[in-house]
Amino acid sequence: MRLVGVDERGIGFGNLSIRDGTTDKFFVTGSGTGGKECLELTDFAHVVSYDLTRNWLRCEGATIASSESLTHAAVYQAEKQAFAIIHAHDLQRWASLRDRVPTTPSTVAYGTPEMAESVLRLFRTTALATHRLLVMGGHEGGLVTFGKDCAEAFDALITPTAPKGPNE
Ligand SMILES: [Zn+2]
Repeated sequence: MRLVGVDERGIGFGNLSIRDGTTDKFFVTGSGTGGKECLELTDFAHVVSYDLTRNWLRCEGATIASSESLTHAAVYQAEKQAFAIIHAHDLQRWASLRDRVPTTPSTVAYGTPEMAESVLRLFRTTALATHRLLVMGGHEGGLVTFGKDCAEAFDALITPTAPKGPNE
């Protein structure tokens, strides 16, 4: 569906992750893997430690986790029922869902401590845990969904819960 892929300039977008057991560590696809039809173990970085306020993370493996991975870290930290996360790009869904479902401020860029803080705030102040989908208001096309497994995260991406009102 090209919701994760490579743009016309050859730059990969989107990423996937799964929680490492019941810890707050996780495995996330490395940068430059968006164009691959099939992922291999070496395409994943194991994020073993991170600090959201310092925008810092440590990872192991053959590939490097991007700073965008800290958004995943914020979700795993805030929602213990999240075991898989998809960060996808979909301009159409982004435009129609923006500010109708939990949405981070348009002033907040991805891969920043502010983005991680905004995600934590959405869990505290909106029904994000139920929606399992958030819109990155300041990251064009950017959506993040999660679930107990990849199938549930994907389901939240393609059939988002009908929004009832702003940030409801
Ligand atoms: Zn993105």
